Amino acid sequence: MTDRYGVIGHPIAHSKSPVIHQQFAHQTRQDVSYEAIDIAPDVLTETLDSLIYDGFKGLNVTVPHKNATFDLMDELSERAQCAGAVNTISVEGEGRLVGDNTDGIGLIRDLKRNLGISIRDAHILILGAGGATRGIVPTLLDAGPHRILIANRTAARAEDLAEEFAADASQPEDIAACQFDELEDHSFDLIINATSAGLNGEVPPFPISILRPEVVCYDLSYAMTTTPFIKWAREHGAEQTHQGWGMLVEQAAESFWVWRAVRPETAPILAHLP
Ligand code: NAP
Repeated sequence: MTDRYGVIGHPIAHSKSPVIHQQFAHQTRQDVSYEAIDIAPDVLTETLDSLIYDGFKGLNVTVPHKNATFDLMDELSERAQCAGAVNTISVEGEGRLVGDNTDGIGLIRDLKRNLGISIRDAHILILGAGGATRGIVPTLLDAGPHRILIANRTAARAEDLAEEFAADASQPEDIAACQFDELEDHSFDLIINATSAGLNGEVPPFPISILRPEVVCYDLSYAMTTTPFIKWAREHGAEQTHQGWGMLVEQAAESFWVWRAVRPETAPILAHLP
């Protein structure tokens, strides 16, 4: 019998996860289906219950549910516990929910393996302090950067996150927070946009002084055309820019591995993405 999987989010129509997972299934000869399911935040708990009742074996979780889902799990992987956010749910036995987080490993695999970008000793700026930032910070810290600075529109969220991760980090000074308008005096090797502003076509008021030609700009968001953040970065001189397609495919491959214990190849899919 075909095993059912899917991705939950709001909005979700833009998601490319169904196409990616269908290609993984075809490539690995696994009998699975995968669909995009729109769930508004106020009905998350009951809709999740009904998907489990309908027999779903696993779900990916995207904007804006990564933090809320964390509290609904029966068990959490170490990666999800470190992140405080869930992007992969496995449904076990009679409906026991196990939460995992594959965003961090997905980003690192894309940066290091696909793009050849070194994290060790890098000065990293993360813009945004939502579920995706939670997912990537622990893995980035493990890769040995010089320092990670988190800047967010709601400054308190960035401060809370930095404090939380500093408490767990071997070197608490490796991570700090600030507001967008405090970024002017800093310089970075890698800037990661983890805000969802691009979904509305927006670029938040980041100071252009953070951009230099040699800074790598990585947008977690992805689109068939250039995302607003990448357009802004290029217009202000950034020469190495990447959209989050590679991370999307790599985190999906890790979720597929978690669910099926089979590792799909990502290169054939990456070769056909923008
Ligand atoms: P989230 O939990 O909803 O957090 C959204 C973040 O964006 C918050 O920090 C929020 O700031 C900020 N933000 C939203 N609108 C903004 C605006 N107009 N100006 C400034 N800041 C704004 O979302 P998420 O799960 O972290 O996802 C963030 C983005 O990463 C999404 O675009 C998602 O598609 C992408 N993503 C991609 C991958 C991938 O595989 N490539 C994986 C994960 C996520 P406040 O705290 O002030 O509200």
